[in-house]
Amino acid sequence: MQTSTHSDLLLKRSLAAVWHPCTQMKQHEWLPLVPVARGEGCWLYDCDGRRYLDAISSWWVNLFGHCNPRINAALRAQLESLEHVLLAGFSHEPVVELSERLARATGGALGHCFYASDGASAVEIALKMSFHYWRNCGRPAKTRFVSLAGSYHGETLGALAVTDVRLFKDTYAPLLMTSSQVASPDWRLAEQGESALDYAARCAQALGRHLEQHQGETAALIVEPLVQGATGMAMYDAEYLRRARAICDHYAVHLIVDEIMTGCGRTGTFFAHEQAGITPDFLCLSKGITGGYLPLSVVMTRDAVYQAFYDEAVTRGFLHSHSYTGNALACRAALATLDIFEQDRVIEANRAKSARLTAAARPIAQHPRVKQFRNTGMIWAFEVETADPEFARKFFAQALERELLLRPLGNTVYFMPPYVIDEDEIELLVSRTLAILDTD
Ligand SMILES: *Cc1c(COP(=O)(O)O)cnc(C)c1O
Repeated sequence: MQTSTHSDLLLKRSLAAVWHPCTQMKQHEWLPLVPVARGEGCWLYDCDGRRYLDAISSWWVNLFGHCNPRINAALRAQLESLEHVLLAGFSHEPVVELSERLARATGGALGHCFYASDGASAVEIALKMSFHYWRNCGRPAKTRFVSLAGSYHGETLGALAVTDVRLFKDTYAPLLMTSSQVASPDWRLAEQGESALDYAARCAQALGRHLEQHQGETAALIVEPLVQGATGMAMYDAEYLRRARAICDHYAVHLIVDEIMTGCGRTGTFFAHEQAGITPDFLCLSKGITGGYLPLSVVMTRDAVYQAFYDEAVTRGFLHSHSYTGNALACRAALATLDIFEQDRVIEANRAKSARLTAAARPIAQHPRVKQFRNTGMIWAFEVETADPEFARKFFAQALERELLLRPLGNTVYFMPPYVIDEDEIELLVSRTLAILDTD
């Protein structure tokens, strides 16, 4: 009784004082806002003791469960020595070690790390760095960027300019620099009888035609490798990345891989672009890198790019900073996360777990309302046949009633669970999703 009063009060205070992200606040007149008191493993517990299986890893950030004892311990230890120091003119062990280990994860191909606090800022940095590189190389006309149709790269103005989401674009268009979009290799768009591979190759040809015309003013192509997340978990063949790499090289255009969602093992390899056997010029990483604990993002680049900024002239240096650049606590959480990857051989373990969840989800794939069930690594998605424009919100509410946190994108339902999801939790996720599909 008392807890219920407490949670009601918390909800009222939240709605009165907090402007929630990506939300038409008026919807909370009827949509439940969930007051979370604590988390443990894959579970979130609300103030009334109800639990929810976090099947979307709290917006794709959590890897090893909430309140992971190992990450907690690493953070506690870090707190005893240093919480934060400015990174301009100063350095510290966690940021150095993290940079070294991330560079090693790329086989040394991307030898320098630049830090920020969120994904959108990492995208801004990659775009600015690419432009500034070309400027330093005597090619200042390369000021434009190309992205894929249906891409999502974040919501600050620069990131939004290369994001292709109708709703955002229509609203904020007057504020945005112009960018170009080329066909997405999303295999759902292939013609009847055309394989994902053939379709990827056809889209790469379209990219080639675009860059043939616009190479002079194009600084970079930015892509979400293998999976375009926010616009509906579009999945595509790695062949597109191989061809895009070759085309970008041919026309002297940078390739930026936005691994903010796909990185940290989400697609089955530590970085998604590894599956294409390519090296990007810039790599953006955030979300899972701290295990879902603290805001941190990284832009990694080749030493050759770094060298193009190395000079006596201040204006040839990269002009960018954030107050919390390279925050020591966030870097420590990232190091603890990388430790878990190594100690638990997570990439290998996830292969079996991915196969297990795919097998368990077969009844979902075969459900009469479900179309285009698909999987890459630790991401599953499918479309649900519905005429209801309110499908996503209703599904979300129905899932909450069944102890599931699922947040469809339009009529696309997806699972992106923490990697620590176990057998029983997989069963629960599948059976309760089926129960929702079987209502109305
Ligand atoms: C989430 C996301 C971003 C933006 O990251 P924020 O931390 O939310 O700013 C950029 N790109 C991709 C692919 C993402 O999934």
